[in-house]
Amino acid sequence: MAEDQYDIAIVGAGIVGLAHALAAARAGLRAVVIDRDAQVNGASIRNFGFVTVTGQENGAPWRRARRSRDVWAEVAPQAGIPIEHTGLAMVAQRREALAVLEAFMATDMAEGCELLEGAAARARLGEVRPRDLAGALFSGIDLRVESRTAIPRLAAWLTECHNVTFRRGVAVNAVESARVTTSAGSIAAGTIIVCPGDDLATLFPDALARAGVTRCKLQMLRLADPGFRLPSAVMSDLGLVRYRGYAALPAAAALSARLEAEQGDHLANGVHLIVAQNADGSLIVGDSHHYAATPDPFGSSEVDALILDEFAAVFGLVPPVLERWTGTYASASGHSLVETPMDGVRLVVVTSGTGASTAFALAEEVIGGIINIQLGASV
Ligand SMILES: Cc1cc2nc3c(=O)[nH]c(=O)nc-3n(C[C@H](O)[C@H](O)[C@H](O)COP(=O)(O)OP(=O)(O)OC[C@H]3O[C@@H](n4cnc5c(N)ncnc54)[C@H](O)[C@@H]3O)c2cc1C
Repeated sequence: MAEDQYDIAIVGAGIVGLAHALAAARAGLRAVVIDRDAQVNGASIRNFGFVTVTGQENGAPWRRARRSRDVWAEVAPQAGIPIEHTGLAMVAQRREALAVLEAFMATDMAEGCELLEGAAARARLGEVRPRDLAGALFSGIDLRVESRTAIPRLAAWLTECHNVTFRRGVAVNAVESARVTTSAGSIAAGTIIVCPGDDLATLFPDALARAGVTRCKLQMLRLADPGFRLPSAVMSDLGLVRYRGYAALPAAAALSARLEAEQGDHLANGVHLIVAQNADGSLIVGDSHHYAATPDPFGSSEVDALILDEFAAVFGLVPPVLERWTGTYASASGHSLVETPMDGVRLVVVTSGTGASTAFALAEEVIGGIINIQLGASV
C-alpha cells in the first residue's frame, strides 16, 4: 500500500493540534492531523471556551494569550464560530481582593481594563449581585466561544478552506524522523508535531516524565438559564490567587491569607469560579483542580457543592444543574513544553491549563521556528 505523504503530520486534534494545523496551512504546508478518537473528546471540548487574556501570567503566557485572542477573533467569523460574549468581570468580594486589582491596574497587563468600586461596580454588574462587593475589574479583551461546537467547526473549516486532512479513529503508536506509525498504516511527513494533550504514556513518555508533567482533573457544571444575559465571563476572589497575572503580585499574599482562613476547603480542592454563558442562556460553571498521574474519573458532590457555594456568593441564586462532567489536562510548572525529541519532530504540550487561550500563538512560534520565519505578531 502506498504511504501517504505530507509536509507536516500533527498528532492530536485538540486545540493545540488544530492551532499547529492552522499555522502550518498559513505557511503553505500540506498538513494531516491524526487523532485516535472518532470525534473530539479531550480537554479542548470540556473547557469553558474562555479565551482569557486578563490575568494570564506576565511575560510570554500573557503575550501568547493576547495574540491567540486576535487569531480567535479573526478565525471565528470565517469558520462560522459565534463569539458568545466578550470581556471579563472580575468581582472583588473582599477589600484584599480589591487591593490585588489595584496592584494589577498599575501593570502593563491592565491596558483596556477598568476598575470600579462599590456602587459603581454594582451598577455595572447588573444582574450579577455579589453578596459582598468591594469592587470589580472590567476587561473588554477576553473572548468566549462554546468549545463543544467551536472545536469541530474549526476542524471542518481547516479542511474546507485550508486543505488540512484529518485521520480520525487512528492511533499513532510510534514516531520516528519523517514517519509516524499508526493503527492504520504509516504516514510520511517532513515534520511531525506531537500534541498529545494529557496522554503521557504513548509517545515520548521519558521527555514528559523528565519535565514533571502530570495530569489535572477538573469538575464542571452547566446550569439552567438564569433568565438574564451575562455581559461577559465572571470570576471572583478565588481566581485572583490562581491566575498568575494577579497571584504573582505581592498584594495577593494578604488575600491568600484571608481566603485560607475563610475558604480553606475551596483552596484545598483548587476551586475557583469562572462563569460563562451559552447562546441558549445556560451557564458553564467551574471548576476544581486535583492532580494525579491517573486521576479518578468520578465527580465528587462535595467539590460540586464548593463550586456552587462560590457561585451563590456571586450570583445569589443557583439555577438547576443540567449537566456535570470532568476533564483532565496535562500539568507541570511553566506555561508549556516544547521539545525536539528527534530531528524533524516537536513535542508540544500546554502544561498550564490555558490551551484555549494560548495555543494559536504557541503554534505560530513552533511552526515559525521550523520554517525559520516569524509568523503572526506574537512573542
Ligand atoms: C475542564 C477544563 C476547563 C478548562 N478551561 C479552559 C479555559 O477556559 N481556557 C483555556 O484557555 N483553557 C482551558 N482549559 C485548558 C485547555 O482546555 C487545554 O489546555 C487544551 O484543551 C489542551 O489542548 P490539547 O490539544 O493539548 O489537548 P486535548 O484537547 O486533550 O487533545 C489531545 C488529543 O490528542 C489525541 N492523542 C493523544 N495521543 C495520541 C496518539 N498517540 N495517537 C492519536 N491521538 C492521540 C487525543 O485523542 C486528543 O484528542 C481547560 C481544561 C479543562 C479540562
